[in-house]
Amino acid sequence: MAASAPSPRALELARTLVGFNTVSAHSNLALIHCIRDELARLGVKSRLSYNADRTKANLFATLGEGKPAGVILSGHTDTVPWDGQAWSVDPLGGVVRDGRLYGRGAADMKGFIATAVAHAKLFLESDAPFAVHFAFSYDEEIGCFGVRELIADLRDAGIRPLACIVGEPTSMVPAIAHKGVYRYRCCVRGKEAHSSLTPRSVNAIEMAARVVGRVRDMAERFEREEPRYEGFDVPFSTASVGQFHGGIADNVVPRDAEFRYEFRDLPTADARAMQQQVVEYAQSLEPAMQRVAPETGFRFETICEIPSFLGSADDDVTRLALRLAGEQRTTLVAFGTEAGLFKNAGIPTVVCGPGSIEQAHQPDEYVSLEQLMRCEAFMHGLARSNSLA
Ligand SMILES: [Zn+2]
Repeated sequence: MAASAPSPRALELARTLVGFNTVSAHSNLALIHCIRDELARLGVKSRLSYNADRTKANLFATLGEGKPAGVILSGHTDTVPWDGQAWSVDPLGGVVRDGRLYGRGAADMKGFIATAVAHAKLFLESDAPFAVHFAFSYDEEIGCFGVRELIADLRDAGIRPLACIVGEPTSMVPAIAHKGVYRYRCCVRGKEAHSSLTPRSVNAIEMAARVVGRVRDMAERFEREEPRYEGFDVPFSTASVGQFHGGIADNVVPRDAEFRYEFRDLPTADARAMQQQVVEYAQSLEPAMQRVAPETGFRFETICEIPSFLGSADDDVTRLALRLAGEQRTTLVAFGTEAGLFKNAGIPTVVCGPGSIEQAHQPDEYVSLEQLMRCEAFMHGLARSNSLA
């Protein structure tokens, strides 16, 4: 019989998780401890791996200890902030209304995490020939930083999961690819002078602008020349400058300028090579700058490097997700996830979770109860699976 509402346990837990303020700038420890204690009541031990100052943690737990290897259910515990957004409900209130659970993180991605944890007992008692692992990370929204520690911890502990399902909101349609997100900052040091004496100066804004122009040229080249990858909204890699700062007055040649830019590379492209082109172009400008003032030049910083993800419709984990979700087709998503990091660690991965990315990061974020029910059915199917495909 089809359920008409999510189980009270899963919904209650989802409301509880939404109630923790886990904006990436905050600690997520209260939420992590809540899940750890929940699992401890079932006799399940959690591995926590921390950030450098131990204010945030990842949680990894295995349900079905002793079984050969398992399927990871992966989610990030942090959320984006809601400053300046017009919400009609309390972002931390966990309001259930009109068939929806509202709150920051309801779709992205506490609904998925809560549904997984609410089924821990089912996974423990399951006859499935594989374990189920929970992998809940911190700092995904600001660059997928936490999960890198988690994956390193698994490697050090000799834990080799068979597959990974990342529960980002895909409306429960398995997604097998997304682009990467690579963000950099470029700081330009010039030499200031009165603007009537330009030959004795190095204009940081003008030098920065040349490099910005190069980023733009690259973006136009991707659009013109890159082999298309159909299925993405924009079927080629993109490049974009998001911030530019510099200058102090109209009559001062600026000493400093800074800009930030990003590449979103197709799974078939290589963002690091793109960045290398930018760095080499900047370096080609430096000799002329340094003839005027030796201290001038460019400095690059990495803000985040989230690799693209490319799974396959033929992977066992994709077939498993299709079967459990009752879907025939796979999809691509436009946003970055932790999937590429799991895949690059040798773990076949698919992205599939409740709710829509349309609601993520928005005011009045919600996940529909119908989506949570579909996610529950997915969990039940996983616990009943007798094989991985
Ligand atoms: Zn997310």
